[in-house]
Parts: sequence; C-alpha cells; structure tokens
Amino acid sequence: MFTLDEKHLDEAKQIALKHRTKKSCGTCYDRGWVGVNDENLLILCTKCVDLEASMAEWKAYVAQHEELKEHFAELFEEQEEEQSEKETDKVMPHDVKNPVAKTPKNYFIPGQKRTGLKKV
Ligand SMILES: [Zn+2]
Repeated sequence: MFTLDEKHLDEAKQIALKHRTKKSCGTCYDRGWVGVNDENLLILCTKCVDLEASMAEWKAYVAQHEELKEHFAELFEEQEEEQSEKETDKVMPHDVKNPVAKTPKNYFIPGQKRTGLKKV
C-alpha cells in the first residue's frame, strides 16, 4: 500500500501553513492540518486553509517528484481536461477584448478634489 514519505509529508505541512486564511483556528490549532490518513497524506483543515490554492501547490510539488507522480496521476488528468476547456473559450479573443477596452470606467472620478495637497 502507498504511504507518503515523511519528507513529502513535511512539505505538505508547509503548504498547508502557507495557505491558511485565518489567524487563529480552534480546529487545527493554527497548523493548517488536522491529521494524516492511512496513506500518510495530510488532512487539511477545511476551516482555515484555502484548499484550492493548497492543492495547486501540492500538484506542482508532486510534478517535481517522479515517485509521487504515479500515485497522484489523477490530479494531472483533471488538469489536462481543464486546459482543453479553456482553449475552446479562447477561439474568438478579438470579439471579447474590444468592448471592454472602450469603456473608460476609471477615467473620471467625481468628488475627488486635490486642494488639501497644496498646503504642503
Ligand atoms: Zn484550521
């Protein structure tokens, strides 16, 4: 059975810590994780960790380690599907960009006076 090497587990803990979104958390005691499963994989704290960002970084880490890639192959299969979807969205980029660029929303800001600056 697959069990994650301790050195990779340590890395996963660092990733969890990095992506915590709250200062104090009673669920994980500010560690960002609540335990490990029977594969020695980190169980992230769902209360305070940005799970999407953590998984993205974990994926990038796995990609650098051949021995992990095999076990986490399904992570990369999903990624490939997402990419092909995005490519179909980009078929007509010109039609999308032009109307947005012609709307100068931030050009005029009413009520902003600079009189205070002159006293300096
Ligand atoms: Zn937490």
